[in-house]
This record gives sequence, C-alpha cells and structure tokens, in this order.
Amino acid sequence: MSVRIAPATQTPRASQQAVQSSAAVNSRPAPRWPALRDELDIQPGPSHADGEPTWVLHDAARQLFFRIDWLSFEILSRWGYGDTGSILAAIACDTPLEAGEDDVKRVLAFLTEQQLLRPEGEEALARLVERRQASRSSWWTWLIHHYLFFRIPLWRPDAWLRRWLPVANVFFSRRFVGLSLAAAALGLALVARQWETLRTYLFDSFSLEGMVVYALALSAVKWLHELGHAFALKRQGGRVPAMGVAFLVMTPMAYTDVNEAWRITGRRQRLQVSGAGIATEGIIAAWALLAWALVPDSGLRSALFFLATTSWVMTLALNANPFMRFDGYFILCDWLDFPNLHARSFALARWKMRQWLFGLADEPPERFAAGKRWALIAFAWSVWIYRLVLFLGIALLVYHLFTKLLGVLLFLVEIYWFIWYPVRRELAVWWERRADIGDQRRARISALVVLTLITVAALPLPSWVWVSAQLKPAEVWAVHAPVGAYVEALTVADGQAVARGAVLMRLSAPEIRMQADLQQARWARVHWEAVSSSIPQAESRPLATARAQGEAALAEYNRSRQALAQLQPRAPFDGRLFLLDPDLAKGQWVGARERLGYLVGPGPWRVETWMEEDQVRRISVGARAHFYAPSLGRSLSARVDMVDTDRAQTLPDAMLAAPSGGHVLVRESKGEWIPERSVYRVTLALEEPLPEAWAQVARGDLVLAAGARSALWSLLESAVSVIWREMSP
Ligand SMILES: [Zn+2]
Repeated sequence: MSVRIAPATQTPRASQQAVQSSAAVNSRPAPRWPALRDELDIQPGPSHADGEPTWVLHDAARQLFFRIDWLSFEILSRWGYGDTGSILAAIACDTPLEAGEDDVKRVLAFLTEQQLLRPEGEEALARLVERRQASRSSWWTWLIHHYLFFRIPLWRPDAWLRRWLPVANVFFSRRFVGLSLAAAALGLALVARQWETLRTYLFDSFSLEGMVVYALALSAVKWLHELGHAFALKRQGGRVPAMGVAFLVMTPMAYTDVNEAWRITGRRQRLQVSGAGIATEGIIAAWALLAWALVPDSGLRSALFFLATTSWVMTLALNANPFMRFDGYFILCDWLDFPNLHARSFALARWKMRQWLFGLADEPPERFAAGKRWALIAFAWSVWIYRLVLFLGIALLVYHLFTKLLGVLLFLVEIYWFIWYPVRRELAVWWERRADIGDQRRARISALVVLTLITVAALPLPSWVWVSAQLKPAEVWAVHAPVGAYVEALTVADGQAVARGAVLMRLSAPEIRMQADLQQARWARVHWEAVSSSIPQAESRPLATARAQGEAALAEYNRSRQALAQLQPRAPFDGRLFLLDPDLAKGQWVGARERLGYLVGPGPWRVETWMEEDQVRRISVGARAHFYAPSLGRSLSARVDMVDTDRAQTLPDAMLAAPSGGHVLVRESKGEWIPERSVYRVTLALEEPLPEAWAQVARGDLVLAAGARSALWSLLESAVSVIWREMSP
C-alpha cells in the first residue's frame, strides 16, 4: 500500500457551496491583509489533461500537498501586494487571465480553510483555539478511530534509501525487467510440463509448517512491495519520510508515505511510483515461478510456490481495486491524470443526485463533456455500492467474530462510521439548503414517493405464507413391490372400488417362488424322515436333532410363504385403488420397493404440509388458504383444520422434501426423512367437495392467509430479538 493524502480542494472549481460559505466568512470586517505562512513553497506540478498548467503548494510543516490551478497560482504569487485591487490589476497587466474579486475571495477562503495563513490578531487566535478544541476528541472517538484505522510509522528510511539507490536502480533497469519477463515465460513453459505436481501443491499445501512458511514469505514480499514504492519515488528525487504498519479494522498492512509523488510533474513517472508495489510483486512471482520449476522439493519450494501463485493473485485481487484507496486507486488516478478521482467523482454524483431528487439547478462542481461526466457519476455510484456491500460484510463478520455484546457494539460502530457518517454529511447539506429545496416541485414529488414507500412499509398489510403441500385422502395406504417382480395379474382396475381383504394385484418373483418350492420340498423330506425315524430299521439318529431340523425347515418355508403373500397385496380397508402408472400391464417388471399405487379410504380428502416455527406463528386454525396443483389445473379453497404443537421428527414420505421439489429441508438417514429445522404439521380441510376425477395424491403450492403485518415492524422486531438474544446471559 502506498499512502498519499490527496491534495485537498481543487481550488479552481471549488463548488458553489464552498464559495458561498467562504463569502460569508469574509464579509466580516478584515482589518489587515492576512499573510501566508513562511513554510509554504510552490513548485510547478503536472499539467492537466487539457494542457492547463498546475502548481503544487507544499506545506512543509505538515507535509501536505495541494494542487493549484493557474489563476490561483497567479493570485498567490502576488499575495504580497496586500489588497484585492492591486492583485487583480497586476494579473490583468501581466497575464492573459481574467480575474475578479470572487477569485481572490475563493483563494482566501481556501487558505483560511486549510490553515495556510499566518495567524494574526485576536480573532485568528480565537479561531485557532476553537479549531484545536474541535480536533481534540473524546476518548471514545479516539478509540473508534483507532479501532477502524491507525498508522504506526516504524522507520525513517530516507537516508538508507539514498544509500542503496544505486543497487535498486539495477532492478528498475529495462534489462532486468526484460529478464524477468523471460524468466516468467520460461517458468510457465517448465510448469506446464509439471502440471500434476503443481496441482498436488495446490491441494496439499495447508499444513501448519506450510502456514508458517507462507506467513514469512508474505511479510517479506510485502516489505519488498513497499520498498518498490519507496525506491521508485527516490528515483524521481522525492523524499520518503516514513514507512510503517497501518491497521485497517485491526488488519495490519505495510505502508509507505509517498506524498511527495504529488510533486512529480510527469504522468508516467508518477504512475511508476504508484504501480511499483504491484510490479515488484509481479517480478517476484516471475522469478519464483522459474525457481519453483527448478529446485527440489523442500520448504523453500512451497514458499516459492506461494510467491508465484497465491500471493500475487491476492495482491491483484485486493490491492488493484480502484474502489478503495489502495494502489489500484492511485494507479488509476495517475493513469487518467485525474487526481482526487474519488472526491471529485463523488462531488459530481452528489450534485447529480440533488438535481434528480430536488431539481436543484446548481452549477456542477466541475465541467466535463457529457460522456466523461456520466462515466464519473457511474464510477462514484459503483464505489458507493461496493463500499456499502463491503462494509456491511465486514460489520457482519466482526459481529460474528466477537462475543455477544461486543460483537453488536463493533457492528454498530462499523455501520455508524462507514455507512451512516457519509450519509449524514449529505443529509446535513440537505438540511442546510432546506429553503432552496422546499421551493422545488421535484422535491415535493420525491418527498411524496418516499413518504408513500415508508407508509407502505409501516402499514400492517395482509400477508401470505407460501409453501408446498400435498393433497391426500385422510386414509391412504401405499402399495409397494416388496422385491423385484413382474406383474402376473392386475385384479383391480385403476380407480376401482375394493372391499377390505381383496387382493389388489398379483406379482410374481420367480426366484422367491423357486426358493419356496425348494424349502417346501426340504421340509416335506425332513418331516417324512422325522416320522419314519420312529421306525427302528431307519438310520439311527437322535430324535431331538431330527425335530430341530424339522422346525428350522418349517420356519424357512413359512418365511418364503410370507414373501409370496407380500407379492399379493390385500386391501387393509374398504377403498379405491389408484395406480401410479395407469399403463401398468400384465408381464411388466417392477423394481424392489417401487411404489405402484395407493389405496384410498372413503374419508374426506385434505391438504397437508409442514411449516417452520415463524410461519406457524403467523397462521391460525380457520385461516383461509388456496391449494393449487399443476395436475389438477384448478385451485381448491381450504381452511386450516389443525396445527400440531409438537415438532415433526420425520416426514412420512419425501414428497415435500427439498430434494424432490418440496420446501422442507431434510437429510436422509436410514431411509427416513429428518427435517433439518423444526417443522410442524399443518392440516387443512377442503372447503368444497372434491370431484371424483381429481381424487389423486398430488403435490402443489399452498398459499395461506397470514395475519396482517408491517414490513418495517417485522424488521424492527427481528433486530430487537437479535440484540435481546446477545444481551441475555
Ligand atoms: Zn502498494
């Protein structure tokens, strides 16, 4: 990471707002012309993309840099003339620029705002004291700031850098960069031939020893990254006052103060400084790749692997991101030659937003061609949305990492600081300009839209619970094939009524039939032997053994007969048989445990489902519902009949389970369907008689009318319940 404090306000086109407020400041009688502080110096800066020259104002005491436009430069360099009139006259005489009183006031406001004037007189002193008190914050703001971000400068590297610059220059040479590219190419070629080894490295490298090696390699590479920035700046003649560690939400990162990069006039040279860190890591990755392909297996080799792959990819993913103020942002600024990209695009997007919301006809903060303006606004919104998602994510992570109350507190701090704080600043501007805003028709329309949205969110509106459900008879019995078998005869037609005890179909499994025949034969033989053993001339065998054998043979034979009986299922009650496959025919083979049909009792049909606790809480017995199954082609109205008070341990079948298309999350264990969360059975009675043609077990969607509830209220409720849960011991 390289740290640069961006030049503060772009003086030339400071926003209308700033000009107005500064005019207010300066309308007070100013008895004496204020003098500039002694520690300031001005040097030529990089030219703007449109060719306009700029200057860099350097506050040596505070090590701050401000980029100044041409007119402001001319005004500042004549500051000593002592009054507005003389300055304007001199500028009109010496330069082709046109300047007015407002321009001088604007520069004065900028100097006051940035504390670049020599404090004189009681009023200035009072202002200084006031400012100092404002900046001295309470202990808790200090704590919050330091929890979110703080920097520890560890080293003043400037003299050391100067000594080692000749060595470093070797690495910046065109020859070395060329060599590194060649190393990368060669490394890639060699790695391509060891593809399998590379893959095992990818998956095997998460040992403890590996982690230690990686941590060492990571810190080494990060310091080299920082040295890359530092030497790049040193090569341009800049001074590097400090290097150290910065903590962002308590995550350490190395940083280098490369503020002096603002002095560099060439765009390419500045780009070198901001890009040097990532480039250094790229070069390290190139050489590491080549070395990995060459050295034998060792701890060193896994470190090389890390440098060649993970470290480099991680750097690109995190550091090259232009949405945060990391290297990628400064690279983008320098590449586009557009300093202060974030602040300037934000200002533009805020200006556009005020126009959209309130129809305010302000001057834009800066003028651009339409295409560029839209690109900047789109960029600003991308940054905002990206940061909103990121900070919410970090806040949630922090909430989960820390215990109970501390987690909630840190979560709130993050939300306050990263999300609410910038929003509040914009709201403050709206409040300040409420008089302007109130006049606009557009503002009233926006207010109406927002009010309507809030009302809709707050109103208790009827709500629905939407689940999958099953239409089924009160009495139902499934017909299974016990083993793989073929259909010998269909004794009952699809949909036909049967009496209790009637055979529903005959299946035949030749193997079981054969086994049964064999066992019958064996039993017959054993039985005959047992009978005949009482005759003395037979082989003499103990009577007990013969009897035991006979019993065993009989038991086996009975088991086979039972299996045979299962192949001829009988109706356990009066009802109607429905085949799952209406085309099931004689001679067809069916698989073991295959469901063939349902025997449906004469009782009423009903709708059944399982719901989670918060859903059950919202419905009550008697609530209206609609059931719709695609196979029926029409919806049926129903009413909640019964809600179980005990949670269901298992589901009777998989029809409503998520894997087969239902809504209940389940896991399968030993052929049973066990709900993952607490679910309760809900049964509904049909409000209308079910036409006979529809009497089939069907899955469909069930929409239940739930109690009225306000979206806003339920959001509040769940927030309060989280806080309550975390605070209770
Ligand atoms: Zn960097």
